[in-house]
Amino acid sequence: MRPALTNVSARYTLTGGRPESRVTLETTERPEVLVGQDGSGNLELVLPGVACAMAAGAIPVRDGLVRQVEVRSDGNVGTRVSIHLDHVADYVVRSEPGLPFRTVVVVDRAHLSRLLSGRLILLDPGHGGADPGARGPINLREREKCWEVTLFASQFLREAGAVVMLTRRPEENPSEALRRSLAKRRGAHLYISLHLGTGRDSAERGTASYALGKAPDSLRLARCIHRAVLDRFPLPDRGIRTEQPVDLSLVIPAVRVEPVTLTNGLDEALLRSPIFKRGLGLAVLTGVKDFLDGET
Ligand SMILES: [Zn+2]
Repeated sequence: MRPALTNVSARYTLTGGRPESRVTLETTERPEVLVGQDGSGNLELVLPGVACAMAAGAIPVRDGLVRQVEVRSDGNVGTRVSIHLDHVADYVVRSEPGLPFRTVVVVDRAHLSRLLSGRLILLDPGHGGADPGARGPINLREREKCWEVTLFASQFLREAGAVVMLTRRPEENPSEALRRSLAKRRGAHLYISLHLGTGRDSAERGTASYALGKAPDSLRLARCIHRAVLDRFPLPDRGIRTEQPVDLSLVIPAVRVEPVTLTNGLDEALLRSPIFKRGLGLAVLTGVKDFLDGET
């Protein structure tokens, strides 16, 4: 019987404290694997003589390095797996014999570490303490959901090498002015506030972002994070705005992101999923990475 590709998965992991992007190919026996890399860093894996037993197509990943993995049957030749990367990166291919036989492509995330290392990022989970913020139809509260998303964002930014500080603890609700003043007092490079939107009516849903303060780059940071959220999830785009009046005390690139609209039942339901909240955390990392990479 011809060997067959049965599964492809992509995962962001920490191995011995080192963040890695791993793409795993599962086959019924040891395949021959030919690997090529183009000028943009994309990896092309050819598995000669291997049948594609899984559904062909694109698997979105968007972990700040691996954008997507695409599986294609190449007729009698075999199967092709393309790994699309955000930038050129080193990689190694490992074999893990067994059933299934696993071929693991480990892509180096050093570029992210170089961009983020030593950067102080101030994350602001909205509301807190006695202030629950907005409530959704089944009573999820903005205070807790902002906190949970912030923890994921904090984890991914830290693992990528950034220094992360939060503006509050779970039981605290500092004033808006106090939160923002921390940016200056701590010497932060970026200020990212997480809130959830509210709609004029319960049908309104989706993602909105705001540029805060007087740094011209706030708008670019808002665009980068906003785009990373919408790239990852099929949410309606409520637009990017500049907060008025402009807060002249805030001089570093600063944004407020409202990834979903809590007053909408569907958006609220998404927030029940840890996978969704983890994905929002990765979107913040991807947006920050794009911003530091100079994307407009
Ligand atoms: Zn809020």
